[in-house]
Amino acid sequence: MSLSFHYAGSPAHIVFGEGASQEAANWIAKIGCRRALVLSTPQQKSDAEALAAKIGPLAVGVFSGAVMHTPVDVTETAMKVVGESGADCVVSLGGGSTTGLGKAIAYRTDLPQIVIPTTYAGSEVTPILGQTEGGRKTTVKGAKILPEVVIYDATLTTGLPVGLSVTSGLNAMAHAVEALYAEDRNPISTLMAVEGLRAFRSALPEILATPGDLNARAGGLYGAWLCGTVLGTVGMALHHKICHTLGGTFDTPHAETHAIMLPHTAAFNGVAVPELLQPVAEIFGGSVGGGLWDFAKSIGAPLSLRDLGLTEADLDKASQIAVENPYWNPRSIDRPSIRTLLQQAWEGRRPEN
Ligand code: NAD
Repeated sequence: MSLSFHYAGSPAHIVFGEGASQEAANWIAKIGCRRALVLSTPQQKSDAEALAAKIGPLAVGVFSGAVMHTPVDVTETAMKVVGESGADCVVSLGGGSTTGLGKAIAYRTDLPQIVIPTTYAGSEVTPILGQTEGGRKTTVKGAKILPEVVIYDATLTTGLPVGLSVTSGLNAMAHAVEALYAEDRNPISTLMAVEGLRAFRSALPEILATPGDLNARAGGLYGAWLCGTVLGTVGMALHHKICHTLGGTFDTPHAETHAIMLPHTAAFNGVAVPELLQPVAEIFGGSVGGGLWDFAKSIGAPLSLRDLGLTEADLDKASQIAVENPYWNPRSIDRPSIRTLLQQAWEGRRPEN
């Protein structure tokens, strides 16, 4: 075997442990900051206020306007609060939407970010920012965007609704599945991807059975860290491209779209690279797509694009957009094959391979 790869480790501090968010003030001080603005969605405002109270004199306020897909107008409103408060860092408490706002602020100001994730989306460990303006979502990548400190604390995630836990976990798993066949994969990304899939294989059924189980919740966050890290280090392909198209064009919900598409995109690419996706078949049992579909079904995940309100005409449009700009994928892509794949996902059929 000839081994050849490039590997770059992330410079971020990863702090993992039950109750670790109690140390937020220490981390603000450790990175040389004194004026933290705490960010959240409107739904998590009271949690953000409680965190700000815990941070004490190092917190200068709370901005609780974060929403999905990081709209630029929300960022501009938040930027005014950053300016008025004299904040010298942000603390993002929440899922990918709140992390996205913190990244958007850091992209414009280079302020350091401390992220305390409460979903499994994985954005906290990537240097990627997706923003929307005028109905268009664009993505930027860069060192300023990568958060400096990430604090994973399972005690803050017991309230994540089970349905969202399931779809968010499958969203993270999609990062790992695509990392296994990424063109620029390396031995570390593959190890992390396999371990991330194993973590979710154990944690999601346990979370479903006992949402308040801190060990299960820690397993979910451990999987999120692993799967998010590979999303941040290697390139994604067909799966992320299709989900981006569906979310961007039809405004389908982010995590659900990933959850529904994953078995189908994995089955499609599994035809081309069965050896690279073999760990997926081993972890989930049976075939690559069939095993993922059975697992998703067993934990009550949504299975059909039809249930998200898409029509068959939307699938025609999506398959056209998905092949417009060429990108790397382990299996060649054409419009009819993508249309067939979308049809299966729309009907919610179990993939055969
Ligand atoms: P989200 O952040 O929108 O959260 C969904 C809802 O759940 C929100 O109302 C939130 O307040 C609430 N919530 C979150 N944690 C909770 C908890 N523990 N208890 C109770 N309620 C809680 O959803 P998400 O799926 O985490 O993030 C989706 C966004 O993240 C999308 O905009 C997506 O594009 C982005 N994303 C970006 C990257 C990246 O690398 N740039 C990676 C993954 C996702």
